[in-house]
Amino acid sequence: MFVFRTIDDLRTYLDTIRKEDQTIGFVPTMGALHDGHRSLLEQAKESSDCTVVSIFVNPTQFNHVADFEKYPVDLESDINFLYGAGCHVVFIPDVEGIYPGGTDATGTVDLAGLDETMEGEFRPGHFTGVALVMQRLLEIVSPDLLFMGQKDFQQTVIIRHIIKVLGMHTRFVTCPTIREPDGLAMSSRNVRLAAHIRDRASVIYHTLDTIRHMLGNKTPTELQQWAMKALNIPDFRPEYVAIVDGNTLQPIAAASDADFIVACCSVWAGDVRLIDNMILREPAAD
Ligand code: AMP
Repeated sequence: MFVFRTIDDLRTYLDTIRKEDQTIGFVPTMGALHDGHRSLLEQAKESSDCTVVSIFVNPTQFNHVADFEKYPVDLESDINFLYGAGCHVVFIPDVEGIYPGGTDATGTVDLAGLDETMEGEFRPGHFTGVALVMQRLLEIVSPDLLFMGQKDFQQTVIIRHIIKVLGMHTRFVTCPTIREPDGLAMSSRNVRLAAHIRDRASVIYHTLDTIRHMLGNKTPTELQQWAMKALNIPDFRPEYVAIVDGNTLQPIAAASDADFIVACCSVWAGDVRLIDNMILREPAAD
């Protein structure tokens, strides 16, 4: 496994891979790796010759300095994790390498309103930062395949949009959410949950699953209102529950309004903000 810290070193190596007609599969991460990340790497290994995992805690996508500073970082254990998981290349750039000209977002793709609902409403500017770093990483790695998790559903829709607008050759692959045995979606932030809160955090999964079962019987608005109450248990505070068209990310008024339907939510669990989602109706096959 190679570990590169500079863009030049990574590019030189990836050029040799391309000359050998090998395909490159890319998994961008912010580190603090867990089995959710591992599943992305496994899919990348299955469908590409050379797998690149980046570890970069992107400062421009955090709304609060405190959240950025509290983000768990353990590079040594991440490198060991990736080595054990059979990764080919780890890319660990620094802020100067990613943003040599500063963090001005002028010139990034217009997100066509996809960044305004849900996470965009509660984390203003978050997706501008995500778009900024992803455009830069895609330009550096220029992968054949890009693997990202359904766990961050809105992010997958936005990155797909960016790839399309830029006319990139990269194929986007959405990987399913990996969950703990009780249903809690794996997340790097879960390590910060106090034990008594962690014990009840599966309420998020169960609430989304109940919405899925109830979709035919109640309107999206009724389900959304019910879920906000169901998530409002001691130490938990839901920010939003949204039942949206999975393509446009706009809320739907009736289940018949879309053939791809997703329920998304964000919940404060103590002082940790968790997000999760569940597909309620799969998109029709192409
Ligand atoms: P992060 O390090 O949190 O920025 O996540 C890096 C990538 O891993 C993103 O594409 C996430 O959507 C994905 N990811 C995070 N958690 C999970 C999970 N529990 N299951 C599947 N993918 C995940």
